[in-house]
Amino acid sequence: MSEYTKPLPELEGHTKDFYGFCKQGELHFQRCSACGTWRHVPRELCAECGSWDWEWARSSGRGEVYTWTVVGRALHPAFQQSCPYAPTVIELEEGVRLLSEVLDVAPEALEIGMPVEVVFEAVTDEITLPKFKRVAAS
Ligand SMILES: [Zn+2]
Repeated sequence: MSEYTKPLPELEGHTKDFYGFCKQGELHFQRCSACGTWRHVPRELCAECGSWDWEWARSSGRGEVYTWTVVGRALHPAFQQSCPYAPTVIELEEGVRLLSEVLDVAPEALEIGMPVEVVFEAVTDEITLPKFKRVAAS
């Protein structure tokens, strides 16, 4: 593995737990214990019902392309070699949205609603990032 030079998440608080699950090859999000609403990014309070009670729950890892943008000119030197690339918002089956990337689809071939599923990319010994691959429509 060549050295990974892109910015990495800070492993603290709930973010540390989120990436801990990713390292195990599982995607987990917070789910409200009172009303069952899933949420991401990690936070203390349910935006739906105001409850402080929540648990980590495992996502199916399946979802679809919600939206994306194409970056043609890197705003950070570490992304220079990746251009053009498409930061993509994935909407998971549970309703939460995650900013990621679809690895096996070129930016110009992305489509809203394209079915995708999570794959995990270990970019350092510490950090594993959730990325996505296209799945055939059923
Ligand atoms: Zn709630």
